[in-house]
Amino acid sequence: MTETVAGSPIWKPAPHRVPAPGLPTSVRVYEVGPRDGLQAETKVIPTATKVEFIERLVTAGLRTVELTSFVSPRWIPQLADAADLMGRLKLPDSVSTVVLVPNLTGLERALAAGATEVAVFVSATEEFAKRNLNNTVDGAVSAAAQVIESARALGLPVRAYISMCFGDPWEGAVPTSRVADIARTLVDSGATTLSLGDTIGIATPGHVLALLDAIRERGIGIDTIAMHFHDTYGQALANVYAALTAGVSEFDSAAGGLGRCPYAKGATGNLATEDLVWMLHGLGIDTGIDLNALADASSWMAERIGHTSPARVVNALRAAQRT
Ligand code: MG
Repeated sequence: MTETVAGSPIWKPAPHRVPAPGLPTSVRVYEVGPRDGLQAETKVIPTATKVEFIERLVTAGLRTVELTSFVSPRWIPQLADAADLMGRLKLPDSVSTVVLVPNLTGLERALAAGATEVAVFVSATEEFAKRNLNNTVDGAVSAAAQVIESARALGLPVRAYISMCFGDPWEGAVPTSRVADIARTLVDSGATTLSLGDTIGIATPGHVLALLDAIRERGIGIDTIAMHFHDTYGQALANVYAALTAGVSEFDSAAGGLGRCPYAKGATGNLATEDLVWMLHGLGIDTGIDLNALADASSWMAERIGHTSPARVVNALRAAQRT
């Protein structure tokens, strides 16, 4: 497909749209870079830079962005400016924004800052609950349920993250039934979306389908489910495709592949939004996202953080620009 004029390729890289049967016709791309990505960086990014990053993401067409987290500034100093950030952002009403809240205090702070949708988080494994949440699995689920019920009483949608849904570096494989039980409890508490996290990137497509079967067996609708894959072992897009075939239509990703899990050694890399969007567009699934503008936004941010993007699509687009 490459044409040349005077030796220079003029083909602008873009996926060819060839739909596959039986997949959702639209997908919600849930951008976690400003929160999940930046909280994992050792460098604290100035608030003004975060504001510009988020505005660039929205200009590139992202419609759902997780902005920040109202966890204790002592835990995560990178996001200590949550209220200030919220005050400075001017985004169109058409953009859905979500903030993470760890407890009722966090919910109060988020509401005071103008949050209209919140997210809570739990763990499917005891060791991760202990290390990351300073709690047990049941304790964390109960605490999250309280926040969910309070936020729902105020009319806010609530997303609930379950971490370590596929495997855990301390406990090994995680039974799908355990994740499904936690999912059922969170839905019963009023969670409007569940994001099933592969925190260490250990999932493979058959495991994804098995977990979604277990979720369905608990009577949870697939339209309630989002999936949060990490590309640690290069499996993220294969896992997305498996989930698409099961009807999942919401996926978490981070622009430029920002972020890692600071609690799970070696667990690098949220799925890059650019890599996800390239595949979705190739499947004929519209996202409203301009891939080149998005790659520009994440490259701009990577320069400010001081390391290059691990995203394949970002690097390929950059290489094409240089030729
Ligand atoms: Mg992540």
